[in-house]
Amino acid sequence: PDYDNHKQVSFFSDPEVGLKVVVAIHDLTLGPALGGCRMWDYQSEEDALKDVLRLSKGMTYKAALAGVELGGGKSVVIGNPNLLKSPRLMHAMGRVINSFKGDYITGPDIGTGVEDMTEIFKTSKYVIGVAEEKGGMGDPSPSTAKGVFQSIRAGLNHRFGSPDLSGVKVAVQGLGHVGFNLCNFLHQEGASLVVTDIDNNKMAIADQKFGAQQVSAQDIYEIEADVYAPCAFGAVINDETLEKFKVKIIAGGANNQLAESKHGLACKQLGITYLLDYVSNGGGLIRVAVEWYKEGEDRLEEKVEGIYDTCCDILKRADQEDIPTNIAADKIADDRIAKKRNSLVS
Ligand code: NAD
Repeated sequence: PDYDNHKQVSFFSDPEVGLKVVVAIHDLTLGPALGGCRMWDYQSEEDALKDVLRLSKGMTYKAALAGVELGGGKSVVIGNPNLLKSPRLMHAMGRVINSFKGDYITGPDIGTGVEDMTEIFKTSKYVIGVAEEKGGMGDPSPSTAKGVFQSIRAGLNHRFGSPDLSGVKVAVQGLGHVGFNLCNFLHQEGASLVVTDIDNNKMAIADQKFGAQQVSAQDIYEIEADVYAPCAFGAVINDETLEKFKVKIIAGGANNQLAESKHGLACKQLGITYLLDYVSNGGGLIRVAVEWYKEGEDRLEEKVEGIYDTCCDILKRADQEDIPTNIAADKIADDRIAKKRNSLVS
């Protein structure tokens, strides 16, 4: 049931280096399939397969909504990264990637990082997230944060008829690479901030730099504010938190914010405007795509700002068809892919 007309799903093993990997290419209509290389101690090959099918499909939708010329793919290496990872394993992974002849491009994900991508780069050029000094592209987080900022503006425009941030209260959960950069953008535009992080130092800096109110990790869900911006971890929109929220808009950088897809409908029923995670946090992917195609900084800015329009389109469609935003977003992505597919056929 997890297959969704995936273009190609392949298993590889290289016992000499302990590599066991599944690569899934979901769709190539918009361009080569891009998706990170996850390394995880899966209980079974079936679990690994399920994960790679779900994640590669997600990448197709994310790329389609980000407006980049990339398809969806993913790879999962089966094994505990702390025990199994080695440069030789990553070199073998590079050879696996080469077998797709450019149809699959990998990058860092859970269990892998810049160091691993730099090793893969020694045997394959189809990799992003390589160390900057080795010709890599650097930290995508500022672009991700800028995209989240645009999605918040779109949410405000939808709810209040203006994207203006002055006087708007935003509750930011997580002051890491995305959350802190987001606070910066919001503060510059006159928003008032309530923040939480498990790292007290980060909260103190946010207080100092942005005059942000600090709250505990638990209290963030109950803050009376215009916007809640989850930028720490996923599944934060769930049965429990939905009973607590006193916000009108949810838009943040964290992946997989809905604990289950039914919580998208629950947001709608509660009158909360939910801007999808994989649209809001698409700025990082846009940066990767722009750099992959060597399109330059201006194009990057333009495309990241385009997240505002995409969010407006999603909200409009959700209203017109009286459907949750997550369903509206899927429909828009399907339309974009179908349009390209038709143009290729004709
Ligand atoms: P990060 O590790 O730099 O920051 C996460 C922050 O959350 C840290 O400051 C951490 O202390 C804090 N945190 C952890 N548990 C917390 C808790 N219980 N309550 C409050 N704060 C808590 O990560 P990041 O790069 O900023 O990414 C944040 C989220 O955005 C992740 O879900 C990530 O997958 C997603 N994301 C990031 C990017 C990117 O470009 N960095 C792109 C797409 C999606």
